[in-house]
Amino acid sequence: MHPRLAADLDRLPSLLDTTVAAAARGLASLEDRPVAVAVPIPALVPVPEHGIGLGGALTSFAETWEAGLSGSAGPRYLGFVTGGATPASVAGDWLASAYDQNVAAGGDSLAPELQRQTLTWLAELFGIGTAHRGSFVTGATVSNTVGLAIAREWIGEQLGADVSRDGVAALGPVTVLSGTPHSSIPKAMSVLGLGRDRLQRVPTLLGREAVDVVALETALASLDGKPAIVVANAGTVNTVDFDDLRAIAALRERYPFWLHVDGSFGAFAALSPEHAHLVDGLDLADSICLDLHKWLNVPYDAAVQFSRRLDLQTKVFQNTASYLTVVGDDPDLIHLTPENSQRFRALPTWFSLVAYGREGHREIVERDIALARALGDRIDADQALRLLAPVRLNVVCLTLAQNPTPERVNALAAAVAASGEAFLTGTVYDGTPGLRAAFCNWSTSMEDVELVHAALAKAAELCSPVD
Ligand SMILES: *Cc1c(COP(=O)(O)O)cnc(C)c1O
Repeated sequence: MHPRLAADLDRLPSLLDTTVAAAARGLASLEDRPVAVAVPIPALVPVPEHGIGLGGALTSFAETWEAGLSGSAGPRYLGFVTGGATPASVAGDWLASAYDQNVAAGGDSLAPELQRQTLTWLAELFGIGTAHRGSFVTGATVSNTVGLAIAREWIGEQLGADVSRDGVAALGPVTVLSGTPHSSIPKAMSVLGLGRDRLQRVPTLLGREAVDVVALETALASLDGKPAIVVANAGTVNTVDFDDLRAIAALRERYPFWLHVDGSFGAFAALSPEHAHLVDGLDLADSICLDLHKWLNVPYDAAVQFSRRLDLQTKVFQNTASYLTVVGDDPDLIHLTPENSQRFRALPTWFSLVAYGREGHREIVERDIALARALGDRIDADQALRLLAPVRLNVVCLTLAQNPTPERVNALAAAVAASGEAFLTGTVYDGTPGLRAAFCNWSTSMEDVELVHAALAKAAELCSPVD
């Protein structure tokens, strides 16, 4: 063994303690470190010929890179839709790395079983019945891609074509219908050979991002019985609006389509009795996307997908080789998603669910919703700012009260980021540039709402109208 490796092995427990201390320092600094950072990029150095051991690497990382990391795990990073990581999920994530199990196939470890049981828990939390089978993927984009891949195979089945063997050309053009799809849907369509431009936007309800089901029915009727794919949205990113899943699912009695639901973060409404009605009918979907590294607050990379057609799923994703298990009735994970080798991705989720339970995770969801409303109230009362849409769940979509040009709204976002107090990302809602504050973190408090509002108010003052 190389002497550096041997030395690290000798001192492994104490080196891991040092690593824990570094992580604890980093987490403790979340309160004070700037939420977004803009520091110079360290110079690129040649690949080290001789290593300096783990202790040296920890020091080098702390000196060179640590200050350049954002506070995205912390309470006032409200950009995109970004959860943090609960203490238990961090522990689970570390142990997943330490044990380094490959859960692609069983036979040597219980890890794939823990993965399966965790999926059963998730199905239960989200009201998904036993007709669905779940699997872990890296994120909601891949979850959507897997769902649409199964949908594509289903279209083939309807048309008497075998896409997994003959390719997507066997289908001819496929129509994908959606009201307010996430940007990962056209991306998935591009990956799958369906083509981004085959995404047909269906009109939404007046003043809403939820699809107009009557318009959807009209679009389906115009396909003259040709099978299609409908992507329903449970939580849009700007206003967290929800399609009427039950009404959409009912259309399958008259029109042939695969129903995929992108419930990436919005489906977490199911955890809150007061809001669960928003995702009523989720179980009726043919495939479902849920993101865990957002509102479940486990570290990146974790999402799940559920689907009803394991047979079609394994047609797409089976990976047969002489040294691997056959697909069978209870296929190994290797046959279910794009990945073959895969990390022990369920462990952080397992830890968080065991540590905090349904009730603990419900509290996170409900607190974030309450905090979003509280910020919404403050924006509403602020002369310099205004809401672009009502706060439906956990996202506040806002802009400058006067003259919200792209330049001025960008300046607002930049001034908030430069304050180090908060981080919000931009959007365009109904033609107006604005910012979004997405509440997804387990540690955010009312005090943080005050700080975020203060940072926004100050930034708005800095970009007061030019006349
Ligand atoms: C975040 C998000 C995605 C993509 O998720 P990733 O985990 O970033 O791949 C898809 N759909 C919706 C609605 C989202 O909010």
